[in-house]
Amino acid sequence: MKKYYLVRFDDICPTMDFEQFGRAVSLMEKYNIKPLLGVIPNNKDTDQMKCEENPLFWELLKELQDKGWDIALHGYTHVYDQEEPKTLISGKKHSEFAGNNYDDQYTKIKKGKEILESHGLRTTMFFAPAHTYDAITLDALHDNGFLYNVDGCSSLPYKEQNVIAIPCRAFGVPKYDIGKINVAVCHPSEWGLASKERDYDSLKMFCEKHKDNFVSFSELMASISLGNSKIQKCIEKIYVIGRNIYIAARNVRNKVRGNIG
Ligand SMILES: [Zn+2]
Repeated sequence: MKKYYLVRFDDICPTMDFEQFGRAVSLMEKYNIKPLLGVIPNNKDTDQMKCEENPLFWELLKELQDKGWDIALHGYTHVYDQEEPKTLISGKKHSEFAGNNYDDQYTKIKKGKEILESHGLRTTMFFAPAHTYDAITLDALHDNGFLYNVDGCSSLPYKEQNVIAIPCRAFGVPKYDIGKINVAVCHPSEWGLASKERDYDSLKMFCEKHKDNFVSFSELMASISLGNSKIQKCIEKIYVIGRNIYIAARNVRNKVRGNIG
């Protein structure tokens, strides 16, 4: 079975940690990988304000896109305005999209897309902050001309409500293969935190291990066939249930260890 390896960088915005992003760019260039950059177009999330706004940000992104890096719209402000809405995949968590009505979601996506376009960035890809999207998000994406939602836990990309879901199963860098499509999901702005400093090393090992088998998201979609929607939705549900059981068991184990310790 041919396997695909990809890299997605989240929370890319003018106030991100540029020192850490520089390490990400160098690593991608060393291994000739063209990652997907999830760009927050109008960031208002204080967690993503790591430094002064970089005036060269948009120019840099345009250069990277011209080199073949993919750009995705990653929310609008990255600020959550819904608590525990019903979502399609990720369970009940805070959300910028899921739980809001169509007009609100449509407007956020439209405004975000306009900001990217005003800086010469084109995209047909989207993924929501905190993985929280619902059926209305998919409609609002389609109506704004988006083709792909880079999220979900299927084994193959599949079409749902006229939007193609490209699976992104891992929460971070996969330690082992988790299917045909293996995406390392990375947050470079967090690499400066003591608790996350090993994340860069995990990505570096992932790059070294799979260096001959990386593709960009655009290349993936040009070379892979879509899965059957009904089957993929079943696979996705089973995967999410399995993962939730694993996480619950791990939490119990850690709690027990904590009590003993
Ligand atoms: Zn994010």
